[in-house]
Amino acid sequence: MFEVAVIGGGLVGAAVAFGLRSLGPKIAVLDEGDVAHRAARANFGLVWVQGKGAGLPQYATWTQRSAGEWPRLAGELLRETGIDVALSQLGGIHVCLTANDLARRVAMLDALQAQPGFRRYPIEVFDRAGLAARLPGLGADVAGGTYCPIDGHCNPLKLLRALHAAAVRAGAVYRADHAVARITPRGAGFTLETTAGTIAANKVVLAAGLGNAALAPMVGLEAPVQPNQGQLIVLERVPRFLAMPLQTIRQTDEGTVLIGDSQQDRGCDESLGTDVLAAMAARAARVFPGLAGARVVRAWAGLRVMSPDGFPVYEQSTEHPGAFVASSHSGVTLAAVHAYAFAPAVAAGVLPESFRPYAASRFGVRLDG
Ligand SMILES: Cc1cc2nc3c(=O)[nH]c(=O)nc-3n(C[C@H](O)[C@H](O)[C@H](O)COP(=O)(O)OP(=O)(O)OC[C@H]3O[C@@H](n4cnc5c(N)ncnc54)[C@H](O)[C@@H]3O)c2cc1C
Repeated sequence: MFEVAVIGGGLVGAAVAFGLRSLGPKIAVLDEGDVAHRAARANFGLVWVQGKGAGLPQYATWTQRSAGEWPRLAGELLRETGIDVALSQLGGIHVCLTANDLARRVAMLDALQAQPGFRRYPIEVFDRAGLAARLPGLGADVAGGTYCPIDGHCNPLKLLRALHAAAVRAGAVYRADHAVARITPRGAGFTLETTAGTIAANKVVLAAGLGNAALAPMVGLEAPVQPNQGQLIVLERVPRFLAMPLQTIRQTDEGTVLIGDSQQDRGCDESLGTDVLAAMAARAARVFPGLAGARVVRAWAGLRVMSPDGFPVYEQSTEHPGAFVASSHSGVTLAAVHAYAFAPAVAAGVLPESFRPYAASRFGVRLDG
């Protein structure tokens, strides 16, 4: 019998398991096999605050808190696993190609920060000259952009590996190829039927990405998440030219350049579209004409875990209080709060009031099973 079974070993499940690692062998992480859709292995790697929270100021605070706790997360992962997740938080830039785009962007950010209860963060608006001083090689087409000093990025594959390694090193049990097909509440605990046998746990955390939609109703919860496809292009390593990430172009710690990311509702289709890739490449070449000569080494598509309003779903079942759900886009950015705020609440057995805005009842779904 485990104390906590975390269903899903993607970025959310791994961050929660890391946050619960003091429980050692009492935690199990049950993961689907290689057939799974895994946003954790397909994402862009931003730790991003700028522009988030329109319609839900609490989400801006949540995101800022995570960005603030990220240095602790990166430090603990390095100490406990030797894996450097390449965190850099020197700020981030959103580039606008036309004066109209820039005006719209500034109006959007002003409206965002004017919301009652919004925890403001610094934003600087740059015209072309101001931006060119920060971004060598900037294209003549760029009209300007916005800069936020608390944005950053990391290596998300190293992050996933490090979260797993730290949890396992602390004694947590990781079981691949254990897709959970059924959860049955039994007394105060749960029985989980997996593709490789049955497991019992006192508490269960649903962190199965898109898989949460099917699992949540089994424990009196709802997670109405849908796939949203994003495509990414990876260019060969080039000499370091970008000191900080742009929202759609970043240079990794290894020197490659990532271009992304598109957003399309295409169901579970993970195929690439040359039209989308061509549009992304053309835009990147307008921002940095020097990239036009760099070779593409690969491209991929991944599925975001998207709720109807784009905000996370965190909830504890009222019917079966040992069951919790965590579904979110921005799982890289939010890894620190998933580890340092959500996981301790699971350990304590109660989600604090501050999680209430994230309940699925905001979508008008039934919560009583
Ligand atoms: C193209 C793209 C770009 C992105 N860029 C960023 C970014 O720059 N910054 C950022 O913060 N976020 C970004 N994200 C979002 C981030 O990757 C996701 O928020 C995060 O990966 C979600 O984590 P998750 O664990 O919920 O889901 P996933 O990472 O998809 O993992 C779900 C896991 O659950 C497992 N699973 C599913 N069903 C079951 C089951 N029944 N039983 C057991 N296991 C199951 C799967 O095997 C998988 O391992 C991006 C995503 C995409 C697709």
